[in-house]
Amino acid sequence: MSDCYQQIAEWLREANDAVAFTGAGISTESGIPDFRSPGGVWSKFQPVMYDDFMASLAAREEYWRQKSLAHAEFADAQPNAGHQALARWEEDDRLAAVVTQNIDGLYQLAGNRTVWELHGTAREILCQDCGWRTDAHALVHQFLETEEVPLCESCGGDRTKHATISFGQSLDTEVLERSIELARGSDLFFAIGSSLVVQPAASLPQLAAQNGARLVIINRDETPLDSMATAVLNEPIGEALSAIDGALKELVAGE
Ligand SMILES: [Zn+2]
Repeated sequence: MSDCYQQIAEWLREANDAVAFTGAGISTESGIPDFRSPGGVWSKFQPVMYDDFMASLAAREEYWRQKSLAHAEFADAQPNAGHQALARWEEDDRLAAVVTQNIDGLYQLAGNRTVWELHGTAREILCQDCGWRTDAHALVHQFLETEEVPLCESCGGDRTKHATISFGQSLDTEVLERSIELARGSDLFFAIGSSLVVQPAASLPQLAAQNGARLVIINRDETPLDSMATAVLNEPIGEALSAIDGALKELVAGE
């Protein structure tokens, strides 16, 4: 197995446009439950659809009740060894960007600066009417105390929600286009902690591989794209990324 880490470290050293694409699996090691898994928040609630949120105050109140509970599940979470490895690689100019399905913002906490969040971020609140943004923490606490949807501090409207992509809401076009561009231009593409079944996210590793990138899949379980991958590691993500990082340090030290 250590040969495998060395090989991937070698590819990382050679790469000019390495990209890491990540899913829920990297966050579970920080104690954040996979929202689709049993016991995850969405197995307990009927999620509020975006159109209902926009149309009805009652739906917005229900949204805030659910999201305030969900907020507690990640607000205190810290980046793990996997996030830290990705942050070091960007810092050392070995990683061009992180593209993620996750909304927990742990990459930025670890130190990554180029992060494209396909599903937005739960760390911020975004006014759906005027685009005003603010940190989520204070407004979640405000809601828990008052049980009233917090008003936008810019336009006074009450259609404030987490800056995440809700059920029934389209992905942000700019984020999606930039992610596609990164995948297409990548020469080493990591697909980390994602089951690679949710579209359009799952098409990114495919696009990278079709355009000649080496594809490295690191995930607990098998994925539908394993046969297309240059290397597949079915092991804990923090351990795998730390091992690759360790092999990279040895390589660089031996230069
Ligand atoms: Zn507003």
